Amino acid sequence: PIELTGIRKAFGALEVLRGVDLSVERGEVVVLMGPSGSGKTTLVRCMNLLEEPDSGHVRICDCAFSCGTRSDRRGRARLMQRARQQTGMVFQQFNLFPHMTALGNVIEGPRQVRNLPMAEAVALGERLLDRVGLVDKRDVHPSRLSGGQKQRVAIARALAMEPEVVLFDEPTSALDPELHAEVLEVIQELAGDGMTMVIVTHETHFAREVADRIVFMDGGVVVEEATAEAFFTRPSKERVRTFLRLVD
Ligand code: ATP
Repeated sequence: PIELTGIRKAFGALEVLRGVDLSVERGEVVVLMGPSGSGKTTLVRCMNLLEEPDSGHVRICDCAFSCGTRSDRRGRARLMQRARQQTGMVFQQFNLFPHMTALGNVIEGPRQVRNLPMAEAVALGERLLDRVGLVDKRDVHPSRLSGGQKQRVAIARALAMEPEVVLFDEPTSALDPELHAEVLEVIQELAGDGMTMVIVTHETHFAREVADRIVFMDGGVVVEEATAEAFFTRPSKERVRTFLRLVD
């Protein structure tokens, strides 16, 4: 569903992505790892065009973009919107709407973007809240949920758009350690259901269990790509060995 070719992105003078090629196959779980500042968040934001690369090609499902060209703005905006609908995103800081209940958060996208009738949206929302173990919290506002519960609502919200791919940007890093497991379990279940996912995480044990493939970035480029098994037991690059010694 996702194919990135030659992706470059700079913020002012800072070159954050320096030519990244990466593809994600249907049903695959790809974990992005790497030191802080290596460009993981920026790369995952390029995968749904929340961040537009300066150059390179992005294909998201059936939408293909050549980045850095300024022609046909309207056509691009339409494509971009479709591409975003095909990818769900789960952020580090949850980004829930504070004035809406858990259910309200989950059904907002289906109501506004997919024009789903209320009864259908509610049935879908309840089903998804049940899937993340929170159907009893349907009428509760985010301020009264724990961090782990907020993140599970955010996952249900991402799924509500029935995306082809779900992108996770460090989904547990804003949570107290004792709340990590409940979120990781939900993600693991999605992997078991065959959901295509890209996950930025520093959690090595989780990565090892959930990933089909690990992509290791450093300095804005992909340094190593391997199955989880190979990555953790016999990394070929010294840079990866140093990183794994530091995080373990
Ligand atoms: P971490 O693990 O710490 O989240 P990361 O690998 O995800 O790091 P990015 O968040 O992609 O790295 O950031 C890479 C670099 O780009 C950092 O130096 C960051 O400060 C910079 N950066 C990211 N977004 C912006 C922005 N919108 N404007 C300016 N600089 C940015």
